[in-house]
Amino acid sequence: IRWTEGRGWHDAQLVPYGPLEIDPANMTLHYGQSIFEGLKAYRRADGTIATFRPTANAERFQASARRLAMPELPVETFVEAVELLVQQDRDWVPSRPEQSLYLRPFMFATEVGLGVRPANEYLFMLIASPAGAYFSGGVKPVSVWLSEEYVRAAPGGTGAAKCAGNYAASLVAQAQAAAQGCDQVVWLDAVERRWIEEMGGMNLYFVYGEGDSARIVTPELSGSLLPGITRDSLLRLAADLGHPTAEARISVDDWKAGNADGTLTEVFACGTAAVITPVGSVKSTRADWTVGAGEPGPVTMRLREALLAVQTGQAPDTHGWMHTIC
Ligand code: PMP
Repeated sequence: IRWTEGRGWHDAQLVPYGPLEIDPANMTLHYGQSIFEGLKAYRRADGTIATFRPTANAERFQASARRLAMPELPVETFVEAVELLVQQDRDWVPSRPEQSLYLRPFMFATEVGLGVRPANEYLFMLIASPAGAYFSGGVKPVSVWLSEEYVRAAPGGTGAAKCAGNYAASLVAQAQAAAQGCDQVVWLDAVERRWIEEMGGMNLYFVYGEGDSARIVTPELSGSLLPGITRDSLLRLAADLGHPTAEARISVDDWKAGNADGTLTEVFACGTAAVITPVGSVKSTRADWTVGAGEPGPVTMRLREALLAVQTGQAPDTHGWMHTIC
């Protein structure tokens, strides 16, 4: 679907997958107006196909567009595009557990010209790909590197938007994490390098105590972390299961101290791609430590099962999160 200044959205098309022709002076290449989303279509036990909270993705896409001075795609248009592509690709939606059809909506400037200002032409596109488990080897705790040198986002920046530049800026820290033998980066706040923000492509959760009364805490939306849809869903799902939940500031020292005195029992990361992944160990320039027992914790696994059960139609969809397509 194209957008042109003065004309709005026009020319929606469903076309075979193929390369795009890009002008060397395409404004996206120079000034980076590029945003995207990620969501999944699941084949449920009864054979029907549904997406998880597409309206939430559509709304976050609008928020990202506003932050990058791009036009907002109407929520209904976003959801309709998702429906059309999933219907078209229905045979590509896997039926095995943990597998899904990953959908990638995105928008970028198509105006040709040099000069820093919002472009006056954009293209919204949607592509899809079957997806298996995010981490090879199944649910295995990941090791994380606390990034103290680089930050992903700063106050007033674009951290709460899902824009391409945020990911470009994260690559060098991801390479540092890999060089340290870690799977993922954990980002800290830009000002004090003290508060936990999020992981590479996932939000974080901290579990205090054990069993049904374990307290589930996630870093509050600081303005520089991405408001994850999985994060939001888990706040509600954990409450349904009887857990006290909170959004709060959590420092590196809180993490280390809670771990040392045993009050912090589990840490996990969550996002569309990985659903829920336990965090097993932490490495930084200051200290290294193992999280809890270093194994997937029972609260983490219970929340994971509960969310997957809703997504795959094995549990009732009490929040109306599933959008049935066919
Ligand atoms: N943080 C970042 C930086 C991400 O890229 C993602 C993935 N979209 C998330 C968190 C998790 O968000 P969601 O649960 O909406 O997938």
